[in-house]
Amino acid sequence: MVRSANLGFPRVGAFRELKHAVEAYWKGQSSEAELQQVAKDLRAAHWKLQQDAGIDVIPSNDFSFYDQVLDMIATVGAVPERYNHQAGLVDLTTYFAMARGRQQDGQDVVAMEMTKWFDTNYHYIVPEFKASTSFALSSTKAVDQFKEAKALGIQTRPVILGPVTFLLLGKSYEEGFDQLSLLPSLLPVYAELLKALEAEGATDVQIDEPCLVLDLSADAKAAYQNAFEQLAGHTNLQLHLATYFDGLRDNAALAFGLPVASVHLDLRRAPSQLEAALNAVKPTQKLSLGVVDGRNIWKNNLNASLEVVQKAVEKLGSDRVIVAPSCSLLHSPVDLDSEQKLDAELKGWLSFAKQKLAEVVLIARAAAGERDDAAFAANAEAIRARETSPRIHNPAVKERVSGAVAADLQRDSAFEKRITLQKASLNLPPLPTTTIGSFPQTQEVRAARAKFKKGELSREQYDAFLEEETTRCIRIQEEMDIDVLVHGEFERNDMVEYFGEKLEGFAFSQFGWVQSYGSRCVKPPIIFGDVSRPEAMTVRWAEFAQKQTSRLMKGMLTGPVTILQWSFVRDDQPRSETCKQIAFAIRDEVVDLEKAGIKVIQIDEAALREGLPLRRGDWKQYLDWAVDSFRITAGGVKDETQIHTHMCYSEFNDIIEAVAAMDADVISIETSRSAMELLDAFVAFKYPNEIGPGVYDIHSPRVPKQEEMESLLHKALDVLTPEQIWVNPDCGLKTRGWAEVKPALEGMVKAAKNVRQELKNRQAA
Ligand code: GLN
Ligand code: ZN
Repeated sequence: MVRSANLGFPRVGAFRELKHAVEAYWKGQSSEAELQQVAKDLRAAHWKLQQDAGIDVIPSNDFSFYDQVLDMIATVGAVPERYNHQAGLVDLTTYFAMARGRQQDGQDVVAMEMTKWFDTNYHYIVPEFKASTSFALSSTKAVDQFKEAKALGIQTRPVILGPVTFLLLGKSYEEGFDQLSLLPSLLPVYAELLKALEAEGATDVQIDEPCLVLDLSADAKAAYQNAFEQLAGHTNLQLHLATYFDGLRDNAALAFGLPVASVHLDLRRAPSQLEAALNAVKPTQKLSLGVVDGRNIWKNNLNASLEVVQKAVEKLGSDRVIVAPSCSLLHSPVDLDSEQKLDAELKGWLSFAKQKLAEVVLIARAAAGERDDAAFAANAEAIRARETSPRIHNPAVKERVSGAVAADLQRDSAFEKRITLQKASLNLPPLPTTTIGSFPQTQEVRAARAKFKKGELSREQYDAFLEEETTRCIRIQEEMDIDVLVHGEFERNDMVEYFGEKLEGFAFSQFGWVQSYGSRCVKPPIIFGDVSRPEAMTVRWAEFAQKQTSRLMKGMLTGPVTILQWSFVRDDQPRSETCKQIAFAIRDEVVDLEKAGIKVIQIDEAALREGLPLRRGDWKQYLDWAVDSFRITAGGVKDETQIHTHMCYSEFNDIIEAVAAMDADVISIETSRSAMELLDAFVAFKYPNEIGPGVYDIHSPRVPKQEEMESLLHKALDVLTPEQIWVNPDCGLKTRGWAEVKPALEGMVKAAKNVRQELKNRQAA
């Protein structure tokens, strides 16, 4: 019989119950016992939901108070020394201290690093490894939660993060230390964990090894072989290997060569890997087919999935085939049924976690010969309705993208000519000062927005409030003597949502939350159709702001790659196509800003880097269309108009050529934390355009000293020409308070002025 399986369920709850409970606990408003109860209730509800859906293989230990990698850190006792963890179980206080840092009861420790989980917008806590790192089983979570489900009458398959991925995702904190060398001391702890699960009656365990879809070194491949042989030799549990987010490709022989009872494949991201897998799978192994997209919100095409499954059944027989979502449903919102505001047509095209489980079951049962004809017919109708809906297709938009010519991607002149014209027209001092766009989103700003949304403030009242805030922000920047001002972005709650709400082809859910990190969730917009711009989106505010000052006002836009990356994207055309449609919409906005008299326009591409494919061989293709999209946005304005971009991260070494190919006149980047080290990439490559290396870290409430910023500017001057350098913070200021922002920016302007004076003196000498 073809069986159905799930790899993981969203933890936060349909209404973010876990978020609220965890945050209340952090604030000291509830006890640990109360928090544990909320968590327990959520787990029970989610197991029950999966059971009711008819899922055969239900996961446990997919729940987490923060993150599954942190859970593994606690499980194997890899707690960094600074948390003062003594032997024994890792308690909740230590657990959250690792996640968030802790300043309490005489303890003052910083958090562990956090980074993005593969190419998702989920973040995990990065394990810290040193030669002296030792491991000991230090959590009973996996066992406890298995027992908890069992007590409810549900036999689950515990999920654990595999040992090789766990080590590979960690960071070595010693020069030249290879974390894979820790494998021999890590494996006994894994073996002990498996034994404990077995003792409680577990028969199977899901071992997540997503690193198997990456480019692997020979050492990593050997580690896989070694790890799984040892684990299999020490347990009677059936080991189920889960891979996702891309295909196995050259690692297929390795994966199927491991002593595991089944291998899970992501057939949404990499459908073509099925063929090779059908040949590589051993007679003792089952194949788990991830045919339902765990990372997007579209209804599955049941007939198309069934065909894939049947192909596997023909070759392997029905007992060796499992149907599953492509990856854990952690990356999906919980329940479409909660949505009250999405219109019926659109809702008919969507599927959230709960609906995806129903799809998995329908496919598995159909493959087992029990096809629900009515459900399949309704699904086929929904798929057809979406394909042919006039709401999706806008011939003018399609024509514009397919008709794009080289000239659309080009400014009129090369940078050298443009910058000369811009310098003449903008008349800025050397080392001009600016900010990245947003100013503090105070409680007051958020309260006014909430009132407006609830209808308690009229459009006029809200606009008047925003005008007042904007004007005040401009006055403050003038007083500080900043050279290129911004309006402050008070009218925006989010840099993607704001634009999505104004563009055609976007929709918004009410409860489509997806965990981003810890208790933080994001609600990505849904791009369902061809994207166009019915009317100007930012001109009103830019124009208003420019009228309040004689200084230069910078127009502020979000770039197409970032909008794409932070949305649920339609799956019926390539991402590159959707990206270019957004690019043309933004281009029109850029042109309109220019017409309205805005001379400096910033197009943020905060997410350019996170869109990189997992395999290096795929990078070029992505970067080509990502860069083209940016160039489309900037290609419509005169040479005199200065185009800025902003990227808020610090690894540029491997993408610097693409960044240069974007050909923005000015780029602002994050450098303050790495003390300008990342400028190395710009220097080695001889980045030709202008650069604003962030001189202070806005991610910390700490106010930087003026001398620190001056010394950072000196460092920048060591490697860049004075004509090339801008002075700015390293990201937007919206998460900070005015009390920190004012002194920090005042110091920044003073630092710039001092260094300008030095340059002048040097010239005179
Ligand atoms: N302009 C945006 C802001 O200042 C940029 C934010 C970002 O890069 N994440 O808020
Ligand atoms: Zn930023």
